[in-house]
Amino acid sequence: MATERSETGKSSNTNGLHVAIIGAGIGGLACAIACRRANPPLQVTVLERTPEILTIGAGIHIPPNACRVLTRFGLLEKLKQAGGYQVQDFTLRRYENGQVLVEKPLKDRMETEYGAQWIAIHRGDYQNVLLKEARAVGAVVLTSADVTGVNLASDRAQTLLLKDGRRISADVVIGADGLWSLTREIVLGRPFPPTETGDLAYRGTFTRAQLKGLKNERVDKLLEQSNIQVWLGPGRHAVFYPLRNHTEYNLVLIAADDLPTGVRTSQGSLEEMAANFEGWDPILNEIISCLKTALKWKLLHFKELDQWTKGAVALLGDASHPTLPYQGQGAAMAVEDGAILGLLLEKFQSAGIPSNQAEKNEKLESLFRLYEGLRKKRTEVNVAGAVHTRHYYHLADGPEQEARDEELAGLPGGRWKGLCSFNWGDAEYQQSLLGFDVLADTEKRFDEWLGDMQE
Ligand SMILES: Cc1cc2nc3c(=O)[nH]c(=O)nc-3n(C[C@H](O)[C@H](O)[C@H](O)COP(=O)(O)OP(=O)(O)OC[C@H]3O[C@@H](n4cnc5c(N)ncnc54)[C@H](O)[C@@H]3O)c2cc1C
Repeated sequence: MATERSETGKSSNTNGLHVAIIGAGIGGLACAIACRRANPPLQVTVLERTPEILTIGAGIHIPPNACRVLTRFGLLEKLKQAGGYQVQDFTLRRYENGQVLVEKPLKDRMETEYGAQWIAIHRGDYQNVLLKEARAVGAVVLTSADVTGVNLASDRAQTLLLKDGRRISADVVIGADGLWSLTREIVLGRPFPPTETGDLAYRGTFTRAQLKGLKNERVDKLLEQSNIQVWLGPGRHAVFYPLRNHTEYNLVLIAADDLPTGVRTSQGSLEEMAANFEGWDPILNEIISCLKTALKWKLLHFKELDQWTKGAVALLGDASHPTLPYQGQGAAMAVEDGAILGLLLEKFQSAGIPSNQAEKNEKLESLFRLYEGLRKKRTEVNVAGAVHTRHYYHLADGPEQEARDEELAGLPGGRWKGLCSFNWGDAEYQQSLLGFDVLADTEKRFDEWLGDMQE
């Protein structure tokens, strides 16, 4: 029996749990890191279908609930070295003239109130930090490993079938395979595609030189700020913020989905994209004029997934709770899922794994029901919260919009205490979303679960 040594020097035998993770996205990699940071570390194989993990994408947020986990992983500095930065303020603007409706301070305040920072970063750089870390702590990450099936067993280990004919045996299978998850179909025993939200996104990045070339003083001012700028308008909104030490900038334009059912992405026309924002703040239109392509992304979600686990298989991230991106929480919830799974499996292993495979599978099934119970409600609240944010952001001009703007203007600058009809301004909602320590809660719930199992 081979042994390996953990970071803390404790030796372990490789008879411990073997965790196979399908998908090397942000959620799968966070789970791999959590499993390898366990003491003793779990054996981890990540299977990624693409031949190369392309660090593509645009900007993404790491809100305090995800940043807390990544800080515990020791990754905060690495994320900053990779161009991640603390966002200064969250600025909401009126669509037609850019007038500031409210400015919510994030820098420092997030750490004081929720114990962790709010970071913005290029999605590719983020994934790269996680990939490097997963490999550095000993996860095996296989590329060109397209999983086409999983043979579930109650009295043996699970078998993953790969497109190229390889078979991989593991105690535990984590489906971190994203929006179109095959693992989800295996868990449910039927297809369960995500549903249309009615919105689509155009996403683009610019170089600083491109935007400087506009020679517009108001644009120049935005370029120096480390703020997230959001323009709110009828049926649509726009989000703009810097990346990579202000050498690049990220723009997301949200509009009504006009893609045919079943089409996820499509090349739109620049004219049509710009027409969506006609009559909006002139500087937003100047920025839009710098875009060279108009790729449309249909935004999908589901409000609820009945079942997240089956036997020794569990889902995480977009496989189980895709959401509109309006609370900046899609990847953050995937990071929470991954960290929680790592912690649960670590504690399960420490409590003593039954040597009988059937008994081991039965206990893992129960453990994953605990995981589902820990995650389902929280992620459903997030999906619903993003839908609520869409309503609030996209109000047509009229009495409801006027009441919204008045409420925003009345929010106490810097303090953000008390109730608000909008999640984003509501202190209690924000505390539960950003300030709740999911890992501390998991520790407690595991101990209760173990007590019940031992009775
Ligand atoms: C416009 C927009 C803006 C967003 N902004 C934010 C934001 O600010 N903050 C935030 O937290 N989230 C944001 N999100 C959401 C975020 O990008 C996703 O929620 C997150 O990336 C999901 O991570 P994941 O690991 O679950 O899945 P994915 O990143 O989709 O990874 C799944 C991986 O599995 C692989 N895979 C799939 N099938 C197989 C198979 N059969 N075998 C092997 N490998 C397989 C895929 O190749 C992929 O690498 C945004 C999303 C959109 C659309």
